[in-house]
Amino acid sequence: MRRTKIVATIGPATSDPTSMLSIIAAGVDVVRLNASHGTLEQHRENASRARTIATDLGRTIGVLVDLPGPKLRSGDLAADEVELAIGASFTLRGERISGDATQVSTTLPELAQWMHPGDEVFLADGAIVLEVVSVDGADVSTIIRRGGILRSRKGMHVPKAERHIEPFTERDRVALEMAIEIRADFVGLSFVRNAEDIDHVRSLLPKRGMKPALIAKIETALAVDNLEAIMIATDAVMVARGDLGIQLPARRVPLIQKDIIRMCNLAGRTVITATQMLESMTRAPLPTRAEVNDVANAVIDGTDALMLSEETAVGSHPADVVRTMAEVAEAAEHWDRHHDTPTGVEAPDNDKVAWAVAHAAVHAAEDLKVAAILCPTRSGQTARRVAAFRPTMPVAGISPTHEVLGGLCLVWGVTPLVVPETADGGQQLRLAVQAARSAGLVRDGELVALVFGDAGPRAGSTDSVRIVRA
Ligand code: PEP
Repeated sequence: MRRTKIVATIGPATSDPTSMLSIIAAGVDVVRLNASHGTLEQHRENASRARTIATDLGRTIGVLVDLPGPKLRSGDLAADEVELAIGASFTLRGERISGDATQVSTTLPELAQWMHPGDEVFLADGAIVLEVVSVDGADVSTIIRRGGILRSRKGMHVPKAERHIEPFTERDRVALEMAIEIRADFVGLSFVRNAEDIDHVRSLLPKRGMKPALIAKIETALAVDNLEAIMIATDAVMVARGDLGIQLPARRVPLIQKDIIRMCNLAGRTVITATQMLESMTRAPLPTRAEVNDVANAVIDGTDALMLSEETAVGSHPADVVRTMAEVAEAAEHWDRHHDTPTGVEAPDNDKVAWAVAHAAVHAAEDLKVAAILCPTRSGQTARRVAAFRPTMPVAGISPTHEVLGGLCLVWGVTPLVVPETADGGQQLRLAVQAARSAGLVRDGELVALVFGDAGPRAGSTDSVRIVRA
C-alpha cells in the first residue's frame, strides 16, 4: 500500500470525465486546480466532477485551488517571438508599448523605482537574464547576459523588487472566493514571502465551519529566508521548485528541498514536492532515469506528497504518469530510512498532550505490531499527528464528513474512511473498526490501535489510546 500521496494538476488533458476518471483510478489523491489558467467556471466544474468520480469509486479526493499570486510578466510583442542576443542592450519600459528585440513593457510599470545598476531581471520564465545598467525615469536599461527567445506575456522575475510587490491581488481574491464557495480542502498561496502573507489570507477565510487548509508555496528567495516563521503560520508547505529555481540558482534547490522537508517532518507539517517530477512524460511514454531518481529521492527525503503539473494538465499520457509516480513512490518507501519526526516538546500547535499521546500510540502500535492505527477525528488533527510519526502500519482517518477527510488526502500514510457519527462513544469505536475491516486494513482477530480525543473539555485534542481486537 502506497503511503506517499499524489497531487495532479487538472487541465485540458484531464478535465473530461473519462480522462479524469483514468487518473483518479490510477492513484490521484488530490486534484489541483490552478487558478493561473482556465476560468472559475471550469474550476468549479472540475472540482465537482472529481468529487463525484471519487465517490463513485468509494474514495475521498482532496481539492486544491492554487491562487495565481502576483506573477510578474513582460508585455506584448509586435511579433510572435523575438530573439534577445547576448551582449545587446535591452530596455524595460515603464509605459505600455508593443515590444521587440530591444525593448518591452512589463506588468510592473513602477519597476524602475526599485532597480539599481548590477541588479538582475529574468525574462521568459528565467531563460533570459538581464543586468541593469542604468535607470532613466520609468525605464530600466539593461544588457542581455543570457539570451534566448522571448514571447508575449511570459513570466518575469525581479528578485530585488520582490519585497515591494503587493502579494495578494484582485485575481487572488476572486479565486479565493471561488475556493471557499466550492469548499476546497486546500488553498495554495503563490509567491508568499513571509508569515504575514499567510496571516492575511487566513483573515479572509470564513470564521466558522470547515475552512481550507493553507499551503505556502516556497518559491521566492524571501520565503526561503523566512522559512521557520512561514512554517508556523501555514498548514502545509509546497517546495515549488519551478519558480524557486529561477529566483535562486537551480543548484541550491535540491538542498533547500531537503531542508524544507526535514523542517516540516520535525514540526509535523504536511509537505509537497512539486514541479518537473516526471516532466518528460508530458510527451514521452516513459520517464527518464533521472526523473525516477528524483521522485524516489523526494520520498526518501520524507515528503508527504508529490505533485504533477503539466504532466497531467496538458500531457499526452496522464494516467500513465500517475501510475509511474505511484509505482516509483511505493518502491522508494521500502528503502529503510529513519525519518525525522516531531518532538512533543516542539509541538507546532502547542498541544503537547496531543502530540505526546500520538507519539505514545505509535510506540505501542509498533511494540504490539498492530494491523492498523485508527483515528476517529473531528478536525483531522489526530490522524495528522499520528502519521507524523511515520508508523509502519496503515493509519486511517475516520470521520462522518468528506470535508474533514478531504483535508487528510495530502497527509502521508493516511487512508480517509467515512463512518457515520453516533452519540455513543463505544459504538463509534466499534464502527471505526468495522470500517477498517471493510476497507481491508484489518482482518478479524487482529489487534488495532484506536487513537482519539475523548468527548469532554479536551474535545478536538488527542488524549486517548485503546488497543482492541478486530
Ligand atoms: C512552481 O513554481 O514550482 C509551482 C508549483 O508553481 P506554479 O506551477 O503555480 O508556477
